[in-house]
Formats: sequence, structure tokens, C-alpha cells
Amino acid sequence: MDTALLHGEEINIVYELVKYQRDGYSQQEIKPIFEKQYRAFSKKKAFKCLCCGTNVKIVLPNENKFSFSHFDKRECSYSENYKSYNKHKDKYENETTHDMGKTLIRTFIEGQMKLLYPLQVSLIEGYKYKARLGIVPDFIIELPDGTTWALDFLTGLKTSKQYSEHIEKRKAVYTAQGFKSFFFIDKQWLAYHKSVSPHTTLVEAEEKLLIKTRQDQKWQDEFYSIRSEERNYVQDSMGIRHFSVVSIAYFNPMDSNCTVLRLVKQESGNFDYYVVGNPLTFSIERALTVDLEENLFTLYDENEDDLIKEYQERIVTDYIKHLTILEEKKKEELESQKKKDHLDQFKKNPSSFSEAPPLLKQQAYYNEGINAGYKKQITAHLMKKFGIKDFPFYLEKKEDELNSKREKLLNKSVVGEAYIRNGAGPTWKSIVIDHFFLFLFEKVDIDQLIATIKESGAIFTQEKRSLIEPPIKSFIEVIKKELKIKN
Ligand SMILES: [Zn+2]
Repeated sequence: MDTALLHGEEINIVYELVKYQRDGYSQQEIKPIFEKQYRAFSKKKAFKCLCCGTNVKIVLPNENKFSFSHFDKRECSYSENYKSYNKHKDKYENETTHDMGKTLIRTFIEGQMKLLYPLQVSLIEGYKYKARLGIVPDFIIELPDGTTWALDFLTGLKTSKQYSEHIEKRKAVYTAQGFKSFFFIDKQWLAYHKSVSPHTTLVEAEEKLLIKTRQDQKWQDEFYSIRSEERNYVQDSMGIRHFSVVSIAYFNPMDSNCTVLRLVKQESGNFDYYVVGNPLTFSIERALTVDLEENLFTLYDENEDDLIKEYQERIVTDYIKHLTILEEKKKEELESQKKKDHLDQFKKNPSSFSEAPPLLKQQAYYNEGINAGYKKQITAHLMKKFGIKDFPFYLEKKEDELNSKREKLLNKSVVGEAYIRNGAGPTWKSIVIDHFFLFLFEKVDIDQLIATIKESGAIFTQEKRSLIEPPIKSFIEVIKKELKIKN
């Protein structure tokens, strides 16, 4: 067990250990300090079991947990609870993070208790519970209205079915005992990054830890108060059928803060959830303040009403943007049809070439190699712009080099290329290679290049311009590097 009585005072050996560890001491360094402080008391049988009152001794191993144990190996309900508590802790928790988190949780809740509701809320270590428990929580909290909570800090989340069943069993044991269960999860398990995706993925066990608070209901009600067009836009684009908000709480002992996610389950993904608004991060002091009205911790941001309003406004802005993009797409489609008609006309009747729009002239030159005169035009431009004297030779040499390195270049990969999926036509990289010199000599700009890639039937998995442009530009840089072209 972690705790024993010394002269009527409780000594928790694990918390004492964590205090030193936080100052940078290792267990090997702490051991002699504790030997000095406690060994003599232990020998004189000054430590007593909290539960049965018999003598206990201090155990200070080099590697394993520091603890107290009965001299005569006897068991009381305390030591039995302690045994099953440790069995599960060893199996499921990351010991250092768990000890550190537990110490913080206890310090803060005790602080809150003294400040805010003296004598109203009581907190004990789960294994000190008077009755024998099959599964023992980290803490048991008793509230003035008679309700009892079991509080756990989970650090060793697992994706396995077995772990998820353990969590379910844990909850069932608490319910059978008349406890209301509450869980904080180690923040290391939080999988969310706004720039990657507006969604998070939970493991099966986490799904069992979701709660619905007063605040979740508020987000939900406010969502249903916006216009149906905008609502449908969010639900369709996020793959949501029922906008039913629930939440989950993570705890980061290193930064002493807590992060709450408001979530809505996606219709298709197994454990995928849409994160409503942004994750809310606040101090552990706030999170651990018992909200006596809701009979829960204070798991909401103090400005959350404003955040809900901001979220609603963002939906409206996003919806307008979405409509604008749709309109632009329509326009683009019309434009590209026009271009295509021009090209068809040109192919049928090459003598009308001089009337073809400039981009088509260039494509025709490179794709079909018709107009040698155009090369002269580029030559003149290059000579003027870069001051190259022996240009025709230089260009031809580089063109040959590009052709000979074509296969090699096509096999090079660039960051972000997953955003462009090739269509049935030439691959996007071969289009970039075909237009490389035109781009280099500023005869084609990045917009025209993107348009040409799109015309080839390529699909952009992300419509965002900021995601499509970088892989194309990086590939151009790859070509430049390969051809040893500097500018
Ligand atoms: Zn005992």
C-alpha cells in the first residue's frame, strides 16, 4: 500500500517520491534519503495500517514501487483493495505519468476542497475505501448530496478489445457500488490537429468514456437553431447525420492543463468524430473544481458562450465561401470548354494557328512540335531576360537532358503529392515536365499549369489552392536541381 499512519498523520510514500522526482531526483537517489527519514520509525513499528491499525513496515526496493506492507503478511480490506488496485495499475498504466497525474489531481482537489467547500466534499484514495472492491479507482470523491464519484486517470489506453472490455467492466463495478464514474485520459492519446483534419479518431475504450454535459447540450441546441441550409452544409460536408454533441476530457500533467473536445460522431467512420469548434484547453484547477450544480467537474471554458457564437458565425462564412467556390467552378468549366473548342478547331485547321490563344500556341508547340518559329521567340525572350548568349545550344542541350531524365524524374516523389490524383490522361508530373521550360521562361504561370493538370483529368483530393500548389512547385524544383538550372 502507498499510505500508512505515522503519529496519526498519513504518509503517502508514492506522493513523497513524486515530489522528489519532479525536482529531478532518480529513485536510486531518493532511496537513501527515505532510508534516513523513515527506516528507524519502521524498525520501531511506528507505521500503522490505515485500515486495520496493525503495524506495517516500509519497503524501499531499488527498482520496484516503494510501499508499506503488513509485517505478518495479513490481509485487510485495505490491503486487498490495494492489491487489486496495483494489479490493474501495473497492467494498464504508464507508472511515471500516472503517479505524477494522480499527485496533481489530489493536490488540486484538496486545495479546492479547503478553499471552496470545506467539509462538503471529501476525497480519498480508491484503495482506502472501506468495502472490498473488485476494481479500485484512483480516487473516491463524496459530495454533500450523498453522491459518490470514482475518478480515474487513464494513461495506458489500448486499442484492443480486451482493454475496452476492461473499461466497461470498470464502469459496471463502479455503478454496482453506487459510484458515478469519471475519467481523465492522458493527453498523449489526444489525436487532433486542425491543419490535418477537423476530425479526431478515438479507440473503442475512449468511446466508452464519452459523457454528455449541460454544455454539450448547449452546443447541440445552438447548432439546431441555425438555418437548415447551413446546417445541412456542415452535416453533409462532415459526414454527420445526427448532430448529437458529447465530450471527452484529456489531462496533461506536464503542463497542468486539461483539454476537452466536443464531438459529433461521423456516420461512416468506425471511431471517427467531428470536433465541434476548437478543443478547449484550461487549467487543471478549473477542470477539477467541482460544479455542485451539475454534479460534475467544471469541464467548460469560461468564454464558451462566445465560442459557440463564433462557431455559428464561422459556419455562415464557410457556407458563403462554399457557394462562391461552386460558382467559380461553374465558370471554370465554361472557360475550359471554350478552350477545348478552340483547340479542336485548331487541330482541324492548323492554318488558323495564329488565331489560337497564347497558351494553346505553346502547348501546340511543345506537344506537337509544329511551330519552330516559336522557339525563336523564346530564345529572344530568354536572351533578353537572363542575358544568355549561346541560348539555342543551351536550350537544346537542356531539352535533351530533360527528355533523357524523364523516367528518372517521373519516379521522384514530392511532399504533398497525395493531394493530386492522376486521371486517365498523362500523369501530372509528365505535364509539369512538358511545360517545364515554358514555366521557367514565364510563358506559363502556375495557374495555367494547375488548369492544364486539371484538364488532363487529374483529381485534386483537396480543393485548397494552398495544398495543390506546393507539390507542383516542389516538383519543378526537383527538375531544376536535376538539370542543374539555377535562378
Ligand atoms: Zn491492515
